[in-house]
Amino acid sequence: MSSQIIPVEEFDLVVFGGTGDLAQRKIIPALYHRHLDGQIVGTSRIIAVSRKPLSPKEYLTKAKEALEEFIPKEDRDPKAVKTFLERLSYVAVDVTDDAGWKELKTKLDDFPDRVRAFYLAVAPSLFGQICEYIGKTGLITDKTRVVIEKPIGKDLASAKALNDAVGKVFREDQIYRIDHYLGKETVQNLMALRFANALFEPIWNAAHIDHVQITVAESIGVGSRGPYYDTSGAMRDMVQNHILQLLCLVAMEPPMSMNADAVRDEKLKVLRSLDPITGEKAEKQTVRGQYTSGAGPEGAVPGYLEELGDTTSKTATFVAVKATVGNWRWAGVPFYLRTGKRMPQRSSEIVVSFRPIPHSIFETGAGGVAENRLVIRLQPDEGVKLWLMIKDPGPGGMRLRHVPLDMSFADAFEVRSPDAYERLILDVIRGNATLFMRRDEVEAAWEWVDPILQAWEETGDTPKKYTAGTWGPAASVALIERDGRTWHDDD
Ligand code: NAP
Repeated sequence: MSSQIIPVEEFDLVVFGGTGDLAQRKIIPALYHRHLDGQIVGTSRIIAVSRKPLSPKEYLTKAKEALEEFIPKEDRDPKAVKTFLERLSYVAVDVTDDAGWKELKTKLDDFPDRVRAFYLAVAPSLFGQICEYIGKTGLITDKTRVVIEKPIGKDLASAKALNDAVGKVFREDQIYRIDHYLGKETVQNLMALRFANALFEPIWNAAHIDHVQITVAESIGVGSRGPYYDTSGAMRDMVQNHILQLLCLVAMEPPMSMNADAVRDEKLKVLRSLDPITGEKAEKQTVRGQYTSGAGPEGAVPGYLEELGDTTSKTATFVAVKATVGNWRWAGVPFYLRTGKRMPQRSSEIVVSFRPIPHSIFETGAGGVAENRLVIRLQPDEGVKLWLMIKDPGPGGMRLRHVPLDMSFADAFEVRSPDAYERLILDVIRGNATLFMRRDEVEAAWEWVDPILQAWEETGDTPKKYTAGTWGPAASVALIERDGRTWHDDD
Protein backbone atom coordinates (compact mmCIF):
# COMPACT_ATOMS: atom_id res chain seq x y z
CA MET A 1 0.00 0.00 0.00
CA SER A 2 1.47 3.40 -0.81
CA SER A 3 0.50 6.96 0.00
CA GLN A 4 -0.35 9.55 -2.58
CA ILE A 5 2.12 12.41 -3.05
CA ILE A 6 0.55 15.68 -4.11
CA PRO A 7 3.12 18.44 -4.76
CA VAL A 8 2.63 21.72 -2.92
CA GLU A 9 2.74 25.06 -4.70
CA GLU A 10 6.10 26.81 -4.99
CA PHE A 11 7.17 28.60 -1.81
CA ASP A 12 9.91 30.48 -0.02
CA LEU A 13 10.54 29.26 3.52
CA VAL A 14 12.73 31.48 5.69
CA VAL A 15 14.13 29.59 8.69
CA PHE A 16 15.30 31.95 11.44
CA GLY A 17 17.70 29.93 13.57
CA GLY A 18 18.72 27.98 10.46
CA THR A 19 21.97 26.86 12.10
CA GLY A 20 20.32 25.74 15.38
CA ASP A 21 19.45 22.33 16.70
CA LEU A 22 15.79 22.37 15.69
CA ALA A 23 16.59 23.40 12.12
CA GLN A 24 19.44 20.94 11.67
CA ARG A 25 17.81 17.99 13.41
CA LYS A 26 14.21 18.36 12.35
CA ILE A 27 13.37 21.09 9.80
CA ILE A 28 16.08 20.49 7.17
CA PRO A 29 15.75 16.67 7.28
CA ALA A 30 11.93 16.94 7.08
CA LEU A 31 12.17 19.19 4.03
CA TYR A 32 14.68 16.85 2.42
CA HIS A 33 12.26 13.93 2.76
CA ARG A 34 9.46 15.93 1.14
CA HIS A 35 11.85 16.95 -1.65
CA LEU A 36 12.92 13.34 -2.11
CA ASP A 37 9.28 12.30 -2.50
CA GLY A 38 8.74 14.97 -5.16
CA GLN A 39 6.40 17.04 -3.06
CA ILE A 40 8.56 20.18 -3.17
CA VAL A 41 8.73 21.30 -6.77
CA GLY A 42 9.86 24.06 -9.14
CA THR A 43 12.05 26.78 -7.71
CA SER A 44 10.85 26.54 -4.10
CA ARG A 45 13.54 27.90 -1.78
CA ILE A 46 14.64 27.44 1.81
CA ILE A 47 16.47 30.46 3.14
CA ALA A 48 18.32 29.91 6.42
CA VAL A 49 19.00 32.89 8.66
CA SER A 50 21.17 33.30 11.76
CA ARG A 51 23.88 35.59 13.07
CA LYS A 52 26.95 33.60 12.06
CA PRO A 53 28.79 35.15 9.11
CA LEU A 54 28.75 31.96 7.03
CA SER A 55 29.49 31.89 3.31
CA PRO A 56 26.84 30.13 1.17
CA LYS A 57 29.26 27.24 0.77
CA GLU A 58 29.84 26.95 4.52
CA TYR A 59 26.10 26.81 5.15
CA LEU A 60 25.58 24.13 2.53
CA THR A 61 28.33 22.07 4.16
CA LYS A 62 26.50 22.40 7.49
CA ALA A 63 23.17 21.41 5.92
CA LYS A 64 24.81 18.45 4.20
CA GLU A 65 26.24 17.32 7.53
CA ALA A 66 22.76 17.53 9.04
CA LEU A 67 21.42 15.27 6.29
CA GLU A 68 24.26 12.83 6.84
CA GLU A 69 23.54 12.71 10.54
CA PHE A 70 19.75 12.66 10.53
CA ILE A 71 18.72 10.96 7.28
CA PRO A 72 19.17 7.19 7.11
CA LYS A 73 21.76 6.16 4.53
CA GLU A 74 19.23 4.31 2.37
CA ASP A 75 17.23 7.54 1.93
CA ARG A 76 20.27 9.65 1.02
CA ASP A 77 20.04 9.62 -2.74
CA PRO A 78 23.08 11.63 -4.02
CA LYS A 79 21.07 13.24 -6.82
CA ALA A 80 18.23 14.19 -4.46
CA VAL A 81 20.72 15.56 -1.90
CA LYS A 82 22.32 17.70 -4.63
CA THR A 83 19.02 19.08 -5.95
CA PHE A 84 17.77 19.64 -2.40
CA LEU A 85 20.90 21.62 -1.46
CA GLU A 86 20.36 23.77 -4.55
CA ARG A 87 17.15 25.00 -2.92
CA LEU A 88 19.05 26.16 0.19
CA SER A 89 20.69 29.52 0.73
CA TYR A 90 21.89 31.50 3.73
CA VAL A 91 21.56 35.12 4.86
CA ALA A 92 23.33 36.37 7.99
CA VAL A 93 21.00 38.57 10.04
CA ASP A 94 21.27 39.49 13.69
CA VAL A 95 17.56 39.79 14.30
CA THR A 96 18.14 42.31 17.07
CA ASP A 97 19.42 44.99 14.69
CA ASP A 98 18.92 46.44 11.20
CA ALA A 99 21.80 44.75 9.36
CA GLY A 100 20.97 41.97 6.91
CA TRP A 101 17.21 42.58 6.57
CA LYS A 102 17.67 44.44 3.27
CA GLU A 103 19.50 41.48 1.77
CA LEU A 104 16.70 39.17 2.90
CA LYS A 105 14.12 41.49 1.34
CA THR A 106 16.00 41.64 -1.98
CA LYS A 107 16.04 37.87 -2.05
CA LEU A 108 12.36 37.49 -1.23
CA ASP A 109 11.43 40.15 -3.79
CA ASP A 110 12.43 37.64 -6.52
CA PHE A 111 9.06 35.96 -5.95
CA PRO A 112 6.58 38.37 -4.38
CA ASP A 113 3.51 36.31 -5.29
CA ARG A 114 4.39 32.89 -3.94
CA VAL A 115 3.66 31.43 -0.52
CA ARG A 116 6.13 32.88 1.95
CA ALA A 117 6.60 31.30 5.36
CA PHE A 118 8.79 32.49 8.23
CA TYR A 119 9.75 29.72 10.64
CA LEU A 120 10.97 31.17 13.95
CA ALA A 121 13.28 28.36 15.13
CA VAL A 122 14.84 30.66 17.73
CA ALA A 123 14.30 31.45 21.40
CA PRO A 124 10.80 32.88 22.02
CA SER A 125 12.41 36.02 23.49
CA LEU A 126 13.29 36.90 19.88
CA PHE A 127 9.79 36.34 18.40
CA GLY A 128 8.54 39.88 19.00
CA GLN A 129 11.60 41.57 17.55
CA ILE A 130 11.69 39.30 14.48
CA CYS A 131 8.03 39.92 13.75
CA GLU A 132 8.52 43.66 14.13
CA TYR A 133 11.41 43.62 11.65
CA ILE A 134 9.48 41.40 9.22
CA GLY A 135 6.68 43.98 9.35
CA LYS A 136 8.76 47.09 9.04
CA THR A 137 11.01 45.68 6.31
CA GLY A 138 7.85 45.10 4.24
CA LEU A 139 8.22 41.32 3.99
CA ILE A 140 4.56 40.48 4.58
CA THR A 141 2.50 39.65 1.51
CA ASP A 142 -1.02 38.24 1.13
CA LYS A 143 0.41 34.73 1.18
CA THR A 144 2.70 35.12 4.20
CA ARG A 145 2.62 32.85 7.24
CA VAL A 146 4.66 32.65 10.43
CA VAL A 147 5.47 29.49 12.37
CA ILE A 148 6.27 29.44 16.08
CA GLU A 149 7.02 26.59 18.51
CA LYS A 150 6.80 25.85 22.18
CA PRO A 151 7.48 27.17 24.70
CA ILE A 152 4.67 29.67 24.13
CA GLY A 153 5.08 31.35 27.48
CA LYS A 154 5.76 29.94 30.90
CA ASP A 155 2.36 30.95 32.27
CA LEU A 156 -0.81 32.65 31.04
CA ALA A 157 0.56 36.19 31.34
CA SER A 158 3.77 35.49 29.40
CA ALA A 159 1.86 33.48 26.76
CA LYS A 160 -0.47 36.43 26.25
CA ALA A 161 2.49 38.79 25.94
CA LEU A 162 4.10 36.53 23.32
CA ASN A 163 0.85 36.12 21.40
CA ASP A 164 0.36 39.90 21.51
CA ALA A 165 3.87 40.52 20.16
CA VAL A 166 3.35 38.17 17.20
CA GLY A 167 -0.26 39.29 16.79
CA LYS A 168 0.81 42.93 16.44
CA VAL A 169 2.27 42.08 13.04
CA PHE A 170 0.44 38.95 11.87
CA ARG A 171 -3.27 38.17 11.73
CA GLU A 172 -4.30 35.09 13.75
CA ASP A 173 -4.97 33.14 10.54
CA GLN A 174 -1.34 33.74 9.48
CA ILE A 175 0.11 32.33 12.72
CA TYR A 176 0.92 28.59 12.84
CA ARG A 177 1.72 27.41 16.39
CA ILE A 178 3.34 24.02 16.07
CA ASP A 179 2.75 21.25 18.55
CA HIS A 180 4.67 18.50 16.82
CA TYR A 181 2.63 15.81 18.60
CA LEU A 182 -0.30 16.80 16.40
CA GLY A 183 1.76 15.97 13.31
CA LYS A 184 2.30 12.36 14.39
CA GLU A 185 0.55 9.80 12.23
CA THR A 186 -1.15 8.06 15.16
CA VAL A 187 -2.47 11.29 16.56
CA GLN A 188 -4.15 12.04 13.26
CA ASN A 189 -5.26 8.44 13.21
CA LEU A 190 -7.08 9.06 16.44
CA MET A 191 -9.33 11.41 14.50
CA ALA A 192 -9.72 8.81 11.75
CA LEU A 193 -10.53 6.10 14.30
CA ARG A 194 -13.10 8.24 16.06
CA PHE A 195 -14.73 9.96 13.13
CA ALA A 196 -14.27 7.63 10.15
CA ASN A 197 -15.68 4.57 11.93
CA ALA A 198 -19.24 4.08 13.10
CA LEU A 199 -18.02 1.64 15.74
CA PHE A 200 -16.54 3.90 18.39
CA GLU A 201 -18.59 7.07 18.55
CA PRO A 202 -21.74 5.53 20.14
CA ILE A 203 -19.66 4.16 23.02
CA TRP A 204 -17.25 7.09 23.33
CA ASN A 205 -18.69 8.46 26.54
CA ALA A 206 -19.00 8.04 30.29
CA ALA A 207 -21.59 5.29 29.95
CA HIS A 208 -19.06 3.00 28.28
CA ILE A 209 -15.60 4.37 29.03
CA ASP A 210 -14.23 3.83 32.52
CA HIS A 211 -11.16 6.03 32.26
CA VAL A 212 -8.43 7.29 29.93
CA GLN A 213 -4.65 7.24 30.45
CA ILE A 214 -2.18 9.37 28.57
CA THR A 215 1.50 8.61 29.11
CA VAL A 216 4.45 10.40 27.54
CA ALA A 217 7.58 8.73 28.88
CA GLU A 218 11.17 9.56 27.95
CA SER A 219 14.10 7.35 28.86
CA ILE A 220 16.60 10.20 28.54
CA GLY A 221 17.46 12.68 31.28
CA VAL A 222 17.89 16.42 30.82
CA GLY A 223 21.57 16.14 29.88
CA SER A 224 23.00 19.48 28.74
CA ARG A 225 19.49 21.02 28.53
CA GLY A 226 19.45 21.20 32.35
CA PRO A 227 19.62 25.00 32.75
CA TYR A 228 16.76 25.50 30.25
CA TYR A 229 14.71 22.60 31.61
CA ASP A 230 15.06 23.83 35.16
CA THR A 231 13.05 26.96 34.26
CA SER A 232 10.32 24.79 32.84
CA GLY A 233 9.81 21.28 34.28
CA ALA A 234 7.50 18.48 33.15
CA MET A 235 4.25 20.41 33.56
CA ARG A 236 5.24 23.27 31.26
CA ASP A 237 7.39 21.18 28.93
CA MET A 238 4.89 18.37 28.29
CA VAL A 239 1.51 18.67 29.97
CA GLN A 240 0.51 22.22 29.03
CA ASN A 241 1.02 21.52 25.34
CA HIS A 242 1.42 17.95 24.07
CA ILE A 243 -0.58 16.04 26.68
CA LEU A 244 -3.47 18.50 26.83
CA GLN A 245 -3.63 18.48 23.03
CA LEU A 246 -3.90 14.69 23.08
CA LEU A 247 -6.56 14.88 25.77
CA CYS A 248 -8.52 17.31 23.57
CA LEU A 249 -8.46 14.93 20.61
CA VAL A 250 -9.77 12.09 22.77
CA ALA A 251 -12.43 14.15 24.51
CA MET A 252 -13.67 16.60 21.88
CA GLU A 253 -17.11 16.45 20.31
CA PRO A 254 -17.19 15.51 16.63
CA PRO A 255 -16.32 18.70 14.76
CA MET A 256 -18.56 19.76 11.88
CA SER A 257 -15.67 19.12 9.45
CA MET A 258 -11.87 18.97 9.37
CA ASN A 259 -11.87 22.72 8.84
CA ALA A 260 -9.22 24.29 11.10
CA ASP A 261 -11.59 26.39 13.16
CA ALA A 262 -14.22 23.65 13.41
CA VAL A 263 -11.64 21.32 14.99
CA ARG A 264 -10.06 24.00 17.13
CA ASP A 265 -13.43 25.21 18.43
CA GLU A 266 -14.14 21.71 19.74
CA LYS A 267 -10.68 21.37 21.33
CA LEU A 268 -11.13 24.73 23.00
CA LYS A 269 -14.44 23.60 24.54
CA VAL A 270 -12.64 20.63 26.12
CA LEU A 271 -9.90 22.83 27.58
CA ARG A 272 -12.53 25.14 29.00
CA SER A 273 -14.43 22.16 30.46
CA LEU A 274 -11.44 20.83 32.40
CA ASP A 275 -12.31 21.00 36.10
CA PRO A 276 -9.91 23.39 37.81
CA ILE A 277 -7.30 21.86 40.10
CA THR A 278 -6.59 24.46 42.72
CA GLY A 279 -5.19 24.60 46.25
CA GLU A 280 -5.80 21.38 48.20
CA LYS A 281 -7.08 19.56 45.14
CA ALA A 282 -3.60 19.84 43.65
CA GLU A 283 -2.23 17.78 46.50
CA LYS A 284 -4.81 15.03 45.93
CA GLN A 285 -4.87 15.02 42.14
CA THR A 286 -1.24 15.61 41.19
CA VAL A 287 2.13 14.03 41.88
CA ARG A 288 5.52 15.61 41.19
CA GLY A 289 8.73 13.67 40.96
CA GLN A 290 12.42 14.26 40.39
CA TYR A 291 14.78 11.49 39.30
CA THR A 292 17.81 10.43 41.30
CA SER A 293 20.73 8.38 40.02
CA GLY A 294 19.89 4.95 38.66
CA ALA A 295 19.73 3.04 35.42
CA GLY A 296 19.57 4.65 31.98
CA PRO A 297 19.30 2.98 28.58
CA GLU A 298 23.10 2.62 28.49
CA GLY A 299 24.03 1.91 32.10
CA ALA A 300 24.30 3.97 35.28
CA VAL A 301 23.17 7.60 35.10
CA PRO A 302 23.37 10.54 37.49
CA GLY A 303 20.38 12.14 39.17
CA TYR A 304 18.74 15.36 37.99
CA LEU A 305 20.37 17.56 40.65
CA GLU A 306 23.82 16.19 39.83
CA GLU A 307 23.28 16.81 36.11
CA LEU A 308 22.09 20.32 36.87
CA GLY A 309 24.85 21.04 39.37
CA ASP A 310 22.31 22.59 41.76
CA THR A 311 21.14 20.69 44.82
CA THR A 312 18.31 23.11 45.61
CA SER A 313 16.18 22.75 42.49
CA LYS A 314 12.51 21.82 43.03
CA THR A 315 11.82 21.33 39.34
CA ALA A 316 9.68 18.29 38.59
CA THR A 317 11.00 15.89 35.97
CA PHE A 318 7.87 13.75 36.42
CA VAL A 319 4.25 14.72 36.74
CA ALA A 320 1.08 12.65 37.13
CA VAL A 321 -2.33 14.32 37.15
CA LYS A 322 -5.86 13.04 37.57
CA ALA A 323 -7.86 15.39 35.36
CA THR A 324 -11.62 15.47 34.85
CA VAL A 325 -13.67 17.02 32.09
CA GLY A 326 -16.82 18.60 33.41
CA ASN A 327 -19.39 17.97 30.68
CA TRP A 328 -22.16 15.48 29.90
CA ARG A 329 -19.99 13.19 27.80
CA TRP A 330 -17.20 12.80 30.33
CA ALA A 331 -18.69 13.35 33.79
CA GLY A 332 -17.07 10.88 36.20
CA VAL A 333 -14.42 9.64 33.74
CA PRO A 334 -10.91 10.36 35.03
CA PHE A 335 -8.13 11.19 32.59
CA TYR A 336 -4.88 10.03 34.19
CA LEU A 337 -1.97 11.94 32.67
CA ARG A 338 1.67 11.20 33.35
CA THR A 339 4.96 12.21 31.85
CA GLY A 340 8.53 11.92 32.97
CA LYS A 341 12.17 11.77 32.12
CA ARG A 342 14.38 8.79 32.89
CA MET A 343 11.50 6.33 32.67
CA PRO A 344 12.28 2.68 31.87
CA GLN A 345 11.54 3.24 28.19
CA ARG A 346 10.61 5.88 25.65
CA SER A 347 6.94 5.38 25.03
CA SER A 348 3.91 7.54 24.45
CA GLU A 349 0.43 6.16 24.39
CA ILE A 350 -3.21 6.89 24.93
CA VAL A 351 -5.20 4.14 26.62
CA VAL A 352 -8.98 4.22 26.48
CA SER A 353 -10.26 1.73 29.01
CA PHE A 354 -13.87 0.60 28.61
CA ARG A 355 -16.22 -0.35 31.41
CA PRO A 356 -16.34 -3.99 32.55
CA ILE A 357 -19.09 -6.26 31.26
CA PRO A 358 -22.23 -6.00 33.42
CA HIS A 359 -22.51 -9.76 34.08
CA SER A 360 -20.25 -12.72 33.40
CA ILE A 361 -21.76 -15.95 32.08
CA PHE A 362 -18.47 -17.80 32.50
CA GLU A 363 -17.47 -20.12 35.31
CA THR A 364 -14.68 -19.07 37.63
CA GLY A 365 -12.37 -21.62 36.02
CA ALA A 366 -12.58 -19.71 32.74
CA GLY A 367 -10.54 -16.90 34.28
CA GLY A 368 -11.47 -13.29 34.83
CA VAL A 369 -12.92 -11.02 32.19
CA ALA A 370 -10.61 -8.06 31.71
CA GLU A 371 -11.95 -4.83 30.25
CA ASN A 372 -11.58 -3.85 26.59
CA ARG A 373 -8.84 -1.34 26.01
CA LEU A 374 -8.02 0.73 22.97
CA VAL A 375 -4.32 1.62 23.01
CA ILE A 376 -3.08 4.26 20.62
CA ARG A 377 0.71 4.10 20.54
CA LEU A 378 2.47 7.29 19.45
CA GLN A 379 6.02 6.14 19.92
CA PRO A 380 8.30 4.36 19.49
CA ASP A 381 6.35 1.98 17.25
CA GLU A 382 3.26 3.84 16.02
CA GLY A 383 0.14 1.71 15.96
CA VAL A 384 -3.17 0.79 17.49
CA LYS A 385 -4.12 -2.16 19.71
CA LEU A 386 -7.60 -3.17 20.71
CA TRP A 387 -7.54 -5.52 23.70
CA LEU A 388 -10.35 -8.07 23.60
CA MET A 389 -11.32 -11.23 25.46
CA ILE A 390 -11.20 -14.42 23.40
CA LYS A 391 -11.44 -18.11 24.10
CA ASP A 392 -8.04 -19.64 24.72
CA PRO A 393 -7.53 -21.86 21.65
CA GLY A 394 -7.55 -25.64 22.17
CA PRO A 395 -9.81 -28.40 23.35
CA GLY A 396 -9.35 -27.75 27.08
CA GLY A 397 -12.80 -26.28 27.76
CA MET A 398 -13.74 -22.61 27.97
CA ARG A 399 -10.84 -20.54 29.24
CA LEU A 400 -10.65 -16.84 28.50
CA ARG A 401 -7.67 -14.81 27.38
CA HIS A 402 -7.03 -11.05 27.00
CA VAL A 403 -5.34 -10.47 23.64
CA PRO A 404 -4.69 -7.45 21.45
CA LEU A 405 -5.81 -6.94 17.88
CA ASP A 406 -2.51 -5.35 17.01
CA MET A 407 -1.88 -3.01 14.12
CA SER A 408 1.65 -1.74 13.87
CA PHE A 409 1.71 0.91 11.14
CA ALA A 410 5.25 0.00 10.13
CA ASP A 411 4.17 -3.58 9.46
CA ALA A 412 0.75 -2.80 7.99
CA PHE A 413 1.85 -0.22 5.44
CA GLU A 414 4.83 -0.35 3.20
CA VAL A 415 5.53 3.33 3.61
CA ARG A 416 7.95 5.06 5.90
CA SER A 417 6.12 6.77 8.74
CA PRO A 418 6.88 10.44 8.10
CA ASP A 419 8.26 12.62 10.84
CA ALA A 420 5.66 15.00 12.28
CA TYR A 421 7.58 18.01 10.95
CA GLU A 422 7.22 16.79 7.36
CA ARG A 423 3.46 16.92 7.59
CA LEU A 424 3.31 20.13 9.59
CA ILE A 425 5.69 22.22 7.49
CA LEU A 426 3.86 21.29 4.31
CA ASP A 427 0.54 22.07 6.00
CA VAL A 428 1.90 25.57 6.59
CA ILE A 429 2.65 25.86 2.87
CA ARG A 430 -0.80 24.47 2.01
CA GLY A 431 -2.39 26.96 4.40
CA ASN A 432 -4.04 24.19 6.42
CA ALA A 433 -4.09 25.18 10.10
CA THR A 434 -6.13 22.21 11.43
CA LEU A 435 -3.15 20.67 13.24
CA PHE A 436 -1.91 23.95 14.71
CA MET A 437 -2.92 25.56 17.98
CA ARG A 438 -4.99 28.69 17.97
CA ARG A 439 -4.21 31.47 20.41
CA ASP A 440 -7.27 30.84 22.58
CA GLU A 441 -6.36 27.15 22.92
CA VAL A 442 -2.86 27.92 24.16
CA GLU A 443 -4.19 30.43 26.62
CA ALA A 444 -7.00 28.14 27.86
CA ALA A 445 -4.39 25.43 28.51
CA TRP A 446 -2.36 27.86 30.59
CA GLU A 447 -5.49 28.92 32.47
CA TRP A 448 -5.87 25.32 33.64
CA VAL A 449 -2.17 24.72 34.32
CA ASP A 450 -1.38 27.98 36.15
CA PRO A 451 -3.35 27.20 39.36
CA ILE A 452 -1.61 23.81 39.65
CA LEU A 453 1.81 25.44 39.35
CA GLN A 454 0.71 28.06 41.84
CA ALA A 455 -0.52 25.45 44.33
CA TRP A 456 2.84 23.64 44.11
CA GLU A 457 4.67 26.92 44.60
CA GLU A 458 2.58 27.71 47.66
CA THR A 459 3.17 24.39 49.40
CA GLY A 460 6.92 24.80 48.88
CA ASP A 461 7.23 20.98 48.89
CA THR A 462 10.04 19.34 47.00
CA PRO A 463 9.09 16.79 44.34
CA LYS A 464 9.15 13.15 45.41
CA LYS A 465 12.31 11.32 44.43
CA TYR A 466 12.25 8.40 42.00
CA THR A 467 15.12 6.28 40.84
CA ALA A 468 16.16 6.78 37.21
CA GLY A 469 14.85 3.87 35.16
CA THR A 470 11.55 3.50 37.07
CA TRP A 471 7.99 4.71 36.36
CA GLY A 472 8.16 7.67 38.74
CA PRO A 473 7.47 7.97 42.46
CA ALA A 474 5.30 5.43 44.29
CA ALA A 475 2.76 8.21 44.81
CA SER A 476 1.97 8.07 41.09
CA VAL A 477 0.96 4.43 41.44
CA ALA A 478 -1.06 5.33 44.53
CA LEU A 479 -2.81 8.16 42.61
CA ILE A 480 -4.45 5.69 40.23
CA GLU A 481 -4.68 2.69 42.59
CA ARG A 482 -6.68 4.74 45.09
CA ASP A 483 -9.40 4.69 42.46
CA GLY A 484 -9.13 0.91 42.01
CA ARG A 485 -7.28 1.19 38.69
CA THR A 486 -3.71 0.59 37.50
CA TRP A 487 -1.41 2.17 34.96
CA HIS A 488 -1.58 0.23 31.73
CA ASP A 489 1.35 -2.11 31.22
CA ASP A 490 1.66 -3.57 27.75
CA ASP A 491 4.02 -6.37 28.62
P1 NAP B 1 19.56 26.58 19.33
O1 NAP B 1 20.21 25.32 18.89
O2 NAP B 1 20.14 27.35 20.45
O3 NAP B 1 19.47 27.53 18.05
C1 NAP B 1 19.12 28.88 18.13
C2 NAP B 1 19.29 29.48 16.75
O4 NAP B 1 18.97 30.87 16.84
C3 NAP B 1 20.70 29.40 16.19
O5 NAP B 1 20.61 29.15 14.80
C4 NAP B 1 21.26 30.78 16.43
O6 NAP B 1 22.28 31.03 15.49
C5 NAP B 1 20.02 31.63 16.21
N1 NAP B 1 20.07 32.94 16.86
C6 NAP B 1 20.26 33.20 18.16
N2 NAP B 1 20.25 34.54 18.37
C7 NAP B 1 20.06 35.11 17.17
C8 NAP B 1 19.97 36.45 16.72
N3 NAP B 1 20.08 37.49 17.57
N4 NAP B 1 19.76 36.68 15.41
C9 NAP B 1 19.66 35.65 14.53
N5 NAP B 1 19.73 34.36 14.89
C10 NAP B 1 19.93 34.10 16.19
O7 NAP B 1 18.03 26.33 19.73
P2 NAP B 1 17.04 25.20 19.16
O8 NAP B 1 17.16 23.99 19.99
O9 NAP B 1 17.21 25.09 17.70
O10 NAP B 1 15.62 25.83 19.52
C11 NAP B 1 15.06 26.94 18.89
C12 NAP B 1 13.66 27.18 19.44
O11 NAP B 1 12.83 26.07 19.15
C13 NAP B 1 13.64 27.32 20.97
O12 NAP B 1 12.64 28.22 21.32
C14 NAP B 1 13.25 25.94 21.45
O13 NAP B 1 12.61 25.95 22.70
C15 NAP B 1 12.29 25.54 20.35
N6 NAP B 1 12.19 24.09 20.21
C16 NAP B 1 13.31 23.34 19.94
C17 NAP B 1 13.18 21.99 19.76
C18 NAP B 1 14.39 21.14 19.44
O14 NAP B 1 14.18 19.94 19.19
N7 NAP B 1 15.58 21.67 19.41
C19 NAP B 1 11.93 21.37 19.87
C20 NAP B 1 10.81 22.16 20.14
C21 NAP B 1 10.96 23.52 20.30
P3 NAP B 1 23.47 32.10 15.71
O15 NAP B 1 24.03 31.84 17.06
O16 NAP B 1 24.39 31.88 14.57
O17 NAP B 1 22.79 33.40 15.60
